[in-house]
Amino acid sequence: MHFDNSYARLPERFSAAALPTPVRAPQLIAFNRPLAAELGLELDGVDDARLAAIFSGNVVPQGAEPLAMAYAGHQFGNFVPKLGDGRAILLGEVIDNIGRRRDIQLKGSGPTHFSRRGDGRAALGPVLREYIVSEAMFALGIPATRALAAVATGERVQRETGLPGGVVTRVAASHIRVGTFQFFAAREDNEAIKTLADYVIERHYPDAKHAERPYFVLLQSIAERQRELVCRWMMVGFIHGVMNTDNVAISGETIDFGPCAFMDEYNPNKVFSSIDAQGRYAYNSQPGIAQWNIARLAECLLPLLDEDADTAVDLANGVLAEFASQFPKRWLSGMRGKLGLTTQDDADEQLVQDLLALMQRSEVDFTLTFRRLCDAADGDAEAFRGMFIDLAGADEWLSRWRARTWRESVTEGDRAKAMRAVNPAVIPRNHRIEEVIAAAVEDEDFAPFHEVLRATARPFEEVAEFAVYAQAPMGHERVFRTFCGT
Ligand code: AMP
Ligand code: MG
Repeated sequence: MHFDNSYARLPERFSAAALPTPVRAPQLIAFNRPLAAELGLELDGVDDARLAAIFSGNVVPQGAEPLAMAYAGHQFGNFVPKLGDGRAILLGEVIDNIGRRRDIQLKGSGPTHFSRRGDGRAALGPVLREYIVSEAMFALGIPATRALAAVATGERVQRETGLPGGVVTRVAASHIRVGTFQFFAAREDNEAIKTLADYVIERHYPDAKHAERPYFVLLQSIAERQRELVCRWMMVGFIHGVMNTDNVAISGETIDFGPCAFMDEYNPNKVFSSIDAQGRYAYNSQPGIAQWNIARLAECLLPLLDEDADTAVDLANGVLAEFASQFPKRWLSGMRGKLGLTTQDDADEQLVQDLLALMQRSEVDFTLTFRRLCDAADGDAEAFRGMFIDLAGADEWLSRWRARTWRESVTEGDRAKAMRAVNPAVIPRNHRIEEVIAAAVEDEDFAPFHEVLRATARPFEEVAEFAVYAQAPMGHERVFRTFCGT
């Protein structure tokens, strides 16, 4: 790895040096060769045992400057002034083959300065979940951290029960979070906030540098990317599950795949996470929460926005108002795409809302509804109709949708094709992930894991071999709860 570690060069209080704690018997479960190539890793003569040693933390590669990043965060609305990487260690940064700076981070590699009472470890199940879901997000074209490697440690971690341990290596545009700014804001360390903001501009938002108000443009740009990201989640039924400010990446990538889940049957209030008792992070709450998180970032940036406090607040409020007004527009435009509409009509929003209401009443599968609507677009509406209990309602809706599509000069074939490019056939279904984890943990069988990885790698294609992965869970397969497993 050709490291160039810019974060390590920031002032001392930004991080704490941290060496991975070796594990007993590392075994390589997965290694993402295409990603490794993208990152310019030189792998000649590097066998699996060596990869397992590196990506478990047993061997620290040359040029790495392992550290744990400092951050704070609002967890379920409560501010915690000191969180930090308690079980993650940043090895360093590399410049990839198209010039992007990328973080390489081990997660589950042992305690750091920030571990508090935690063991710094990860259980193998959540490691596999993160690997699958983050790579599935990438395949869906949604910004997300990537998974480079998964290693079983050969050690047990103690959770509610004893579980096999794992380490996942994650690659991110950076691991800077809203909570990183909050860490310094809580300490009234304006100098560090400015240093961090300048660093983020340099690394992620270079255009802001030349603006009249660079920090305002920075805030605006971060808000825009967050808005875009959450909108993309909504389009595929993704529920992040822990949108705490320490899990909001400044780069606009999806990060931290703890209790996340793709919903099966449509329910706007859907919550999976076992720890989200109040439903704070329910599916439909995500846009509002994203805005709330950006408000927390804006508070940190106030001292940089303007010398005059009132002006600074006005500028920040402008960004939040923009978020609130733009989100529904962006959402509607995404939904138009899912319905195969290429033009705008005032009645479109109602058309979308009526479909969602029908879907909720019939508890139909979110992903399959839209995928079967693609079939309806090129002539076969039977599968779509067959999903609804309220058949009359479905027929009425279909005829309105058809009438709407006929007002556009797009051929059936082109419309169906465009729809199939935005409505996935395959998502990483919760029940499949549970099967993967059970096989890995109970039988040390990783075949299902690799199979799901292959099935979710081309989500917009219907591949006969992977048909089973496109199916919704049967009654007894349904998953109601997910666990972050920390
Ligand atoms: P997360 O829920 O993964 O976003 O983590 C929230 C905070 O808890 C972060 O500061 C983590 O580093 C810390 N944390 C989570 N699990 C562990 C663990 N097993 N050991 C130490 N710290 C942890
Ligand atoms: Mg986190």
